[in-house]
Amino acid sequence: MTSLAERAHAAAVFIRHHTAVSPHGRYRGEEHARTAVRLAAALGLGLDQITTAPDWQRRRNTPGEPVLATATCPDTNETYVFLARFPIYDDEAFELLGPCPECSGQVPLALIRHLADLGTYLARPPLTPEDLPHTQTLPDSFTDDEAHTSTCHYGQTL
Ligand SMILES: [Zn+2]
Repeated sequence: MTSLAERAHAAAVFIRHHTAVSPHGRYRGEEHARTAVRLAAALGLGLDQITTAPDWQRRRNTPGEPVLATATCPDTNETYVFLARFPIYDDEAFELLGPCPECSGQVPLALIRHLADLGTYLARPPLTPEDLPHTQTLPDSFTDDEAHTSTCHYGQTL
């Protein structure tokens, strides 16, 4: 087991390195690296189990464009995709993405701040389209998320 000081040092080096070499530019690079460090810490994973990518679907032209962070389970290779909608705010919860019960678009299904939030989400049965009008478990961002299809009831009204 590596010491806390060593892991902290590695996290700082990771952010510096990815800020410098990012194909998305220095500011985006830092946002991606900070998002990866924050998600790894929240889930108790290593930085090598997190990858990030720009979220082209939810893109906006303001500082802190959304970042998609994929966590891969080291035991099962299962992947979980998290959205950092405002990556410049370190205290915002991640949004776990999964299929909309109605349209199957990859939309926010739960707010995840730490491992127990993911545990609570995974313990629930998957929502059905019939559950959607009554459920209290979805984040506010579920409605009107950009990833619903144009015919989905929960998508943006154009
Ligand atoms: Zn939908």
